[in-house]
Amino acid sequence: MIETSLHPCRSEARSAIPFAAFEALLRHEAEEHDLALGTAPDGSVWAEVEGGELGIRPDGSGCVLLVHAQGPDWLHAIGETVDEHLAHHLPGTAALQWSGARAAHRLPPNFSLARMVRVTRLSGDFLRVRLEGANLARLDRDMIHFRFVLPGAADTPARWPRVGADGRTEWPPGLHRPAYTVSAIDPDAGWLETDIFIHAGGRTCDFAQRTPPGAEVGLTGPGGGGIPRAATLSIGGDETAYPALARIIAAQAAHARITAQLFGDRADYPFPAHPGLVTSHRPRAEAAVAAEIATAPPADHYWFATEKPRLAPLRRAILDTLAVPKSRTHLAAYWNAAGSADD
Ligand SMILES: Cc1cc2nc3c(=O)[nH]c(=O)nc-3n(C[C@H](O)[C@H](O)[C@H](O)COP(=O)(O)OP(=O)(O)OC[C@H]3O[C@@H](n4cnc5c(N)ncnc54)[C@H](O)[C@@H]3O)c2cc1C
Repeated sequence: MIETSLHPCRSEARSAIPFAAFEALLRHEAEEHDLALGTAPDGSVWAEVEGGELGIRPDGSGCVLLVHAQGPDWLHAIGETVDEHLAHHLPGTAALQWSGARAAHRLPPNFSLARMVRVTRLSGDFLRVRLEGANLARLDRDMIHFRFVLPGAADTPARWPRVGADGRTEWPPGLHRPAYTVSAIDPDAGWLETDIFIHAGGRTCDFAQRTPPGAEVGLTGPGGGGIPRAATLSIGGDETAYPALARIIAAQAAHARITAQLFGDRADYPFPAHPGLVTSHRPRAEAAVAAEIATAPPADHYWFATEKPRLAPLRRAILDTLAVPKSRTHLAAYWNAAGSADD
C-alpha cells in the first residue's frame, strides 16, 4: 500500500478542514470498519478501502484528500462515500471539488441502467427478478450486493442521477434505493438475477409485481461486504439475508463446515446443497442463538444479517463476549421496522 500503490485512477480535493480533524475521522472509520491504515514519508495517512485507497495530506491550515482506485467506478464510489461521511460527521463544511476523472454531466460510473425483463414466483415468499443491461461486469465479483434505483412511482418516468460539475452525484428527488443481493449473474450475456422477499408495504416487491416487463431501473454498486471463505463458518439471517446466505454456502470448499441459522418466519427459499452444511430453522430466535454461540466452540468466521434490533444480541455475543476480531465477522442490519429505509 501507500508509496507502491498501482491503482490507476486518481482524484484529489482540497479541504479547509484541519488535517487533524480529518485524520481523527479517518482513524475512527478505520477502527469501525477494520481498515488497514498506514503513514507515508510525506506525512500523508492512508486507509485501504473497498476498491482502492483513501489518503489525506496536510496542506497549510487544511488538508488534501486523495483517492487512488482500481477503476473509474471505484474512484467515483470512494469519493462519494467521503462526501457522504463529511456531510454526516462535519455538516456545514464546503462541498469538496474533486479533480480529474469524475467528469461532469454523465451517469455516475458506478451506476448503470437495466431492464426488468422477467419476474417469476420463486417460492411462496420470494420473487426472482431478471435484469438485463450492459456494464454489469462490475457486479460480478465477490462483493455480492447492489442497490436498485427505482422511480418513486412505478408509472412515473425516472430522472436518473448525473455527475455534477464538482464531481459529485446529483440525485433527483424521489428515487428509492434499497440494497439487494446478486443471486446469479452472467455479465457477458448481459443479465443478473436477484431474489426479493415479499413483505407488506415493500416498495420493491410492489414495483416488481406492478411494472410491465421491460421497465427501466438503475443499479449502483457493488458494495456491502463480500463472500467469506473459511474452514468453519457460523452464519445466519432472516429472509432478506437468505439470498446472501445461499451465495456464501455455494462458494465454500467441499471440506468447509457451515452452521446456518434461518431466522425468518419460514425457510421458503432454495438453498444450495453442501456436504458440510447443517441448517436450523429458528424463527426470530436471534437472542437464543446468540446465547448458544457465546458458549459453543469458536468458528473461523461469523456472518449474520437480520433486522436491526434482532442483530444486537448476536453482535454482543460475537464481538463482546467472544471478542472475535471484526475482520472475522460480518454482522449487518438488513432492514429496520423503525424506518431508515435508505432512500
Ligand atoms: C446488503 C443488503 C443486501 C440485501 N439483500 C436483500 C435481498 O437479496 N433480498 C431481499 O428481499 N432483501 C434484501 N435486503 C433487505 C432490503 O434492502 C430491505 O428489506 C429493504 O427495506 C427492502 O426495500 P423495500 O422497497 O421492499 O421496502 P420499503 O418500501 O423500503 O419498506 C416498506 C416497509 O417495509 C418494512 N420492511 C422492510 N423489509 C422488511 C422485511 N423483510 N419484513 C417486513 N417488513 C420489512 C420497512 O421497515 C418499511 O416499514 C438487503 C439489505 C442489505 C443491507
